[in-house]
Amino acid sequence: MSTLFILKSVEAVRVAILTHESEIESLDRAIGDGDHVVNIKRGVEAILAIQEELCQLAPDVALHQIGMKLLSTIGGASGPLLSSFFIAMGKSLKETGGKGTGEENLKQVAIAFQSGVTAVQHRGKSGKGEKTLLDVLIPVSDTFMQMTHQESVDQVACLRTLTQVAKEGVLSTREMIATKGRAAFLGERAIGHLDPGAKTTQLIIQAVCDLHLVSS
Ligand code: ADP
Ligand code: MG
Repeated sequence: MSTLFILKSVEAVRVAILTHESEIESLDRAIGDGDHVVNIKRGVEAILAIQEELCQLAPDVALHQIGMKLLSTIGGASGPLLSSFFIAMGKSLKETGGKGTGEENLKQVAIAFQSGVTAVQHRGKSGKGEKTLLDVLIPVSDTFMQMTHQESVDQVACLRTLTQVAKEGVLSTREMIATKGRAAFLGERAIGHLDPGAKTTQLIIQAVCDLHLVSS
């Protein structure tokens, strides 16, 4: 994974979030306070504002810096959660080297992704089935690890499957009662609504996978 790819991913995420802006806003209006899309846009813009500085850095350091930037710019619950994801991902890539090519690199990225998801779980004191972004992150991470730790890895199939698993993850939040975050105050009234954090997470994963498919 190169720093250039990370920065191109952020740009692709920006487009995906802007395309779905009103949908995300409505989701957070329905079961939260409506600010989620503003929070995410602020984070994306803050990263793009320091891209010149980031592109000089090794990928693991760039991910750490992205995490620090998100911590200081995104308010709400999602800021510290996303921040811990990127900081943990950077730490893992530093440990594995993160510089392999092809299959080896994809394995290292899967391990880093898993570390990021574990960090979010710790930070949020949350897990699967609580109607949060973890209902996308956890199944995607589990599938990513399974698919990249087989004898031969089909990269294209892997990326397509991750996109599909992320879509299923966000849909799974519809019938859940929230036990974490603002939506937890709504009890059964949250049933029937998708979780906004899960939706943005799915869009982010889809944007990055699509970009990888185009450039590989
Ligand atoms: P806030 O809820 O503070 O307004 P945002 O609107 O930016 O923050 O983010 C809301 C999203 O954060 C939710 O949709 C949910 O996915 C996620 N979230 C909230 N609390 C937690 C938690 N404890 N663990 C995991 N995700 C959480
Ligand atoms: Mg909110």
